[in-house]
Amino acid sequence: MIRINENYLKLSSSYLFSTIARKVEEFRKEHPGVEVLSLGIGDVTLPLPRSCITAFHAAVDEMADARTFKGYGPEQGYEFLRGPIAEMDYRARGADISEDEIFISDGAKSDTANIQELFGGAVRIAIPDPVYPVYVDTNVMAGRTGPFRDERYGGLIYLDCTEDNGFIPDPPQSRVDLIYLCFPNNPTGVSITRQRLAEWVAYARKAKALILYDAAYVAFIREEPLPRSIFEIPGARDIAIEFRSFSKTAGFTGTRCGFTVIPKSCMAYDIEGGAHSLRDLWLRRTATKSNGISYPVQRAAAAVYTPEGRKEIRALSDYYLANAKIIREKMTALGFPCAGGDNSPYIWVKTGADSWRFFDALLSKTGVVCTPGSGFGKCGEGYVRINAFSQTEIVRAAMERIGKAAAELRSL
Ligand code: PLP
Repeated sequence: MIRINENYLKLSSSYLFSTIARKVEEFRKEHPGVEVLSLGIGDVTLPLPRSCITAFHAAVDEMADARTFKGYGPEQGYEFLRGPIAEMDYRARGADISEDEIFISDGAKSDTANIQELFGGAVRIAIPDPVYPVYVDTNVMAGRTGPFRDERYGGLIYLDCTEDNGFIPDPPQSRVDLIYLCFPNNPTGVSITRQRLAEWVAYARKAKALILYDAAYVAFIREEPLPRSIFEIPGARDIAIEFRSFSKTAGFTGTRCGFTVIPKSCMAYDIEGGAHSLRDLWLRRTATKSNGISYPVQRAAAAVYTPEGRKEIRALSDYYLANAKIIREKMTALGFPCAGGDNSPYIWVKTGADSWRFFDALLSKTGVVCTPGSGFGKCGEGYVRINAFSQTEIVRAAMERIGKAAAELRSL
């Protein structure tokens, strides 16, 4: 008899975005005349930058000619992409990263999910709350947690991110082995300072722990002192892996490309305390399980590093940041305290009411879709996430509708 992986049965029942989609569908049926304005799921709306499209087309044409055709590429990714990443995203900012420490992938979701294959089954895992749900659910699937009770999985160490700590957790008192951090954060939109990140690096070095640092939203950081990469912090090379994505940076959510950085000096340990290079293990894993990412996609991603591409991606994130400013200012003026939205496309709004209740009221009274904070963890209760990835006209229209319904929404 074929048996299932029973860890899947521990997953809490409904996926956040399918519940939202169902509720929106019901609303549409009941209110066919009302245009739904979606500021919910974090997907971009602007097309790929022109230079990416040009490079994409040219690469497709290369595939049509036997002289330039490409078959299987290097599993780790082409050097024409890894080279500029190492130079422009890292060394230009003082982070000592070389091209052979970079792994091109189909995006940060798969990488943040798959990386845990490298770690022992009994590692102690610290996860922020609220959190991008992929980190939690993939650990559940891998059998690294107990059952789901009182809105939390047994066996995980949750790092509460609340108004009191500015939504940035301190290192735990207890020893943990694996730590997930994400800045600028999804869902709260907050960024971490160099000093606070250095505290985490110091903790991990002392504990011989590993930080998984998700920087999928780095393109939205505008304040100069804020670190773009964990590798800008001295000592981080030995204790951190960083994930990045072209999804939000350059509109690649449907095109799919990202990368993971594992410095050669980043180690994990066997039962006798022997050190093993995680970069070498990940290279072994990648070579075994992947034949790389499509050549045209990598060419399109490499165009991000051309002078024209730099300007275009800056314009993309500027556009979404301008939306974020509109949302943040309006929600604050209406009496809803906000975090995020300045170096991030996400605005974390304190609702003064239960998250789902606020979501339902917002949808039924205004036709605007947000994301209930409780879908990201227990500490997200009482908040909703609004994202700035829509077109500006939609953002303005949504804010106008919310303005008209504000008194009712405040009194929920
Ligand atoms: N990491 C975070 C924090 C995200 O919010 C997302 C997407 O929403 C991802 C990773 C996934 O990125 P990708 O599209 O590269 O898989």
